[in-house]
Amino acid sequence: MLSIEQAQAHILSDVPRTGAEQVPLASAYGRVLAETIRSPRHVPPWDNSAMDGYAVRAADIPSDGSDVRLELLEIVGAGRMPEHVVRSGTASAVMTGAPIPEGADAIVMVEHSDGAREGHVTLRGPVREGQHIRRAGEDIAEGSVVLGPGARLTPGRVGLVASLGVPSLLVSRRPVVAILSTGDEVVPPGRPLKPGQIYSSNNATLAGLVHEAGGVPLDLGNAVDDLDALRTRLGYAVHEGHLVVTTGGVSVGTYDLVKQVFEELAGDSLDFWKVRMKPGKPLAFGRVARGGRTIPLFGLPGNPVSCMVNFLQFVRPWIRTSMGDPRPFLPVIDAVAGEDIPEKPGRAKLLRVVLDSADGQVVARLTGTQSSGALSSMAAAQGLLLLAPEAGGVKAGEAVRVQVVDAQFLAGDTPSYGW
Ligand code: AMP
Ligand code: MG
Repeated sequence: MLSIEQAQAHILSDVPRTGAEQVPLASAYGRVLAETIRSPRHVPPWDNSAMDGYAVRAADIPSDGSDVRLELLEIVGAGRMPEHVVRSGTASAVMTGAPIPEGADAIVMVEHSDGAREGHVTLRGPVREGQHIRRAGEDIAEGSVVLGPGARLTPGRVGLVASLGVPSLLVSRRPVVAILSTGDEVVPPGRPLKPGQIYSSNNATLAGLVHEAGGVPLDLGNAVDDLDALRTRLGYAVHEGHLVVTTGGVSVGTYDLVKQVFEELAGDSLDFWKVRMKPGKPLAFGRVARGGRTIPLFGLPGNPVSCMVNFLQFVRPWIRTSMGDPRPFLPVIDAVAGEDIPEKPGRAKLLRVVLDSADGQVVARLTGTQSSGALSSMAAAQGLLLLAPEAGGVKAGEAVRVQVVDAQFLAGDTPSYGW
């Protein structure tokens, strides 16, 4: 049996990049940057006022805090250029964001004035040279590298690019992920069930997982356990997708024909593994050459939980890597077990847990049955508690590692500022 790491190393050894496309900033959120962004300018472009106030020469203001009366030259609103030089004995009113007039070296905030009248203003010190002045290039210097390839585009980063005046970005294309479930018993929701049939949950979970990973799901429905049906559907999937994910038919049951059709498509590149993990042991992986591209085939187990857990360990990192994300793996945090969890050594365990953050630590508790068919306990899971293959169980209070699958466990029903 292969370890998870060995299977991952093989799968991620040669991931083709998806290529890049130019998108407007409004569509850039969540994408992975595919270029280096250097600032074409200083941000802010010139020294400007951080306050509504008066631009002065600091030396004019008494340092003992007593008042001084200065001649008022002009009022400079944001978006206007000053017209007068501030010389000794004079001041100009400036609004927040307005350029600093020549000659001025400090801003006195409006609260430290009497408000201007009759062409004069009375100001109170003390004043430090440079106070309340935002310097040109203070945020971003011209020519500096702002973001590089592989950066995930958060709202703040997209805004940063906007502040440079850059209207669009080169980002990695989203890979199209063809999703095909297999099995005679599997029926899409919305159709009546015949005896012995079940509804497919895998198409729906995979579509969501692909989306979350940054790919574009292409749901091709279900193929019955029949060689010709599988050949037709998989042929189409390979034609349409940057990668293909199937579920079911990779264990050792009589009707597990996916493996055979994968072999026809992927030839010698096909690996059919038993990965030393629970849930999710069977996994098929191969590569198909199509039109100058290499399309990976992932044959995931049919069990709904195994399917999801396998996707998160193998397919998600492939998708992220194909888009150039240098951190393709899910976050892993330190936590403590909230209960005794008896387990036997053998395979690596990924146990479904809910997470609670309290008193500086995260507590992990099982979501209930860990059967690989019980989707309800996966639906409730915020993390996968990681137990090494050689490890037995853990006792309540023991340190554990948890792969976070839903960071919303930190979200609150109250603001929880704690002040
Ligand atoms: P298999 O991997 O084909 O042996 O299937 C393992 C288990 O997963 C069986 O109980 C199947 O009925 C179930 N299963 C297979 N495909 C799906 C699916 N698309 N949605 C929900 N359950 C499935
Ligand atoms: Mg089956």
